[in-house]
Amino acid sequence: ARRAAYAEAGGPGRTADGHPVPLLANVGGPAELAAAVAAGAEGVGLFRTEFLFLGRSEPPGVEEQVRAYRAAAEAFPGGKVVVRTLDAGADKALAFLPAPPEPNPALGERGLRVFLRHPEVMAAQLDALAQVEGAEVMAPMVATAEEAAWFARECRARDLRRVGVMVEVPAAALRAGDLLSAVDFVSIGTNDLSQYAFAADRQLGAVRALQDPWQPALLDLVALTAAAAAEAGKACGVCGESAADPAMACVLAGLGAGTLSMAAGSLPAARAALAAHTLEECRLAAGAARDAVTAAEARAAARAYLPGLG
Ligand code: PEP
Ligand code: MG
Repeated sequence: ARRAAYAEAGGPGRTADGHPVPLLANVGGPAELAAAVAAGAEGVGLFRTEFLFLGRSEPPGVEEQVRAYRAAAEAFPGGKVVVRTLDAGADKALAFLPAPPEPNPALGERGLRVFLRHPEVMAAQLDALAQVEGAEVMAPMVATAEEAAWFARECRARDLRRVGVMVEVPAAALRAGDLLSAVDFVSIGTNDLSQYAFAADRQLGAVRALQDPWQPALLDLVALTAAAAAEAGKACGVCGESAADPAMACVLAGLGAGTLSMAAGSLPAARAALAAHTLEECRLAAGAARDAVTAAEARAAARAYLPGLG
């Protein structure tokens, strides 16, 4: 029966016992929306907006931005669409913004920090988002509760209804409850959270093992964040690519992630894996993974509780 469930899973994301885990797509621009719809995404959990800003000498106007964000909302009528504000930085330089060179771009003025220096760029982006019905908005690279509160104030001043922040800096995971007092939801970016937790450049093959999402320390940070959200009665999703591993999709649900967002191509396997296991099995798998010491042991321990993966 498990095999059949695995093979036949379709429709919305849910565990074998019917616990909903909406499956959303990470999208890098309007051109990727059709693939997300085709893969059965229930919405967009991460709309990366860098495509609008990179490689141009003038910033995009409000109207151009509205068109792009509206395309995402229209692709998923009634569905969730979470738009992330510009996540540029010294490694993704903005031709229209002069930026001094930085010795450690990953640790420099990137993500929300760019807006601290250039609030007019944020203002235009939030003005555009305020015109798109149903769009939720979240900020990348938030490290402190003060940053979250500042971003939330700017959003609420424009009547943006659902405001969130990404948790991709370990400080934000450790203090997720403080961040959540200003916003409606958090979305964990496991790509950068790994990079910063393990001090391992995500673009560097030589330190790849430290980027393994099965590292128990990363799972602890996810669990901490999800627990803070549960305590606050607010939503916590994951939008890093770690859920591309179907066993990890189950473990993330077991750790308390309420939604999973990933590349469209990874959605069918995640959907099938969830459909083949109960939430309790996912929780047991998550607990076993956190009890392990190494990433390989964590994965093996989790899979022992996830028989439907074969
Ligand atoms: C992440 O860091 O996990 C994430 C989802 O954002 P990006 O990959 O765009 O940095
Ligand atoms: Mg990131």
